[in-house]
Amino acid sequence: MTPTSTLSYQGRPIRLQGTMLNLTDMWRAAGCPEHRRPTSWLILEETARFRAHARAHLAEPDEPAGDNVVHDHIIALEPDGFVATLRGRHGGTWAHWQLALSYARYLSPEFHLWCNTVVRRAMTWRVGPPMAEHDPLHRHLVQQFGDLHRRLDSLERHAADLMFLVLSAQDILLDKRRDFSERSQATLVRVTAAEPFEGQCPCCLREPVLTEAGRPAPGAEFDHFFHRGLNRPEHGWLICAPCHAELTYGGYLLRFLRLPEFRAFQGAVLEHRRRERAAPDDQPR
Ligand SMILES: [Zn+2]
Repeated sequence: MTPTSTLSYQGRPIRLQGTMLNLTDMWRAAGCPEHRRPTSWLILEETARFRAHARAHLAEPDEPAGDNVVHDHIIALEPDGFVATLRGRHGGTWAHWQLALSYARYLSPEFHLWCNTVVRRAMTWRVGPPMAEHDPLHRHLVQQFGDLHRRLDSLERHAADLMFLVLSAQDILLDKRRDFSERSQATLVRVTAAEPFEGQCPCCLREPVLTEAGRPAPGAEFDHFFHRGLNRPEHGWLICAPCHAELTYGGYLLRFLRLPEFRAFQGAVLEHRRRERAAPDDQPR
């Protein structure tokens, strides 16, 4: 059985099922005009002519219109399959949507205009997307995305290897530890206090790393993200004790996994420094 769906005209429901629309719902939605009930329209000569023409020219051979409606409730299905009268929950007069559009015109110009857009779109959609997995474009895209994912995975592995090489090279070149200067520490604190971190550890975004007075909280550490010899503000961040322990003993792969969080913080530091240079008078000395 084809499922019933509902369109809504000014909050009033109009049921459709397969290619059939509920004319009684349409009549109600259009404000129940007394002399324009579905039965009044169906007996018009113009309606009969339209039905005859539709019967001869409507090209949906695999889907006889009347087969869509709920069989148990049919009181009368007209021989052409374009109009059915039902009782019960699905009751009222149903008609093929081409016929229903013609009925909409009979009801009112505004209603006809609305139906022309909404009903037509619903019907076009019905014969469109459901065949997605047989659609060559869909299959092509699925394959392309699969390839792309595999390439990103190998790029990520290369990037992790590069980071390992860079860290090893830094060990040889910058053996000496250089702590963050007071000025750099102050910059890191100001960036941590501001949005979007607002005093939370920028690594896990869970633990507070600043006291209410805006000082580094006990246990919080100024972490050299790249190397202990690189101590410019954009080379570090103020993180909580658990994050610091994880990054210190977790090895470079763990550090590599935290790159996105660090990049976000580093971006904030660089932006802060850019503003500082642009308006040095606004900054505390
Ligand atoms: Zn943390």
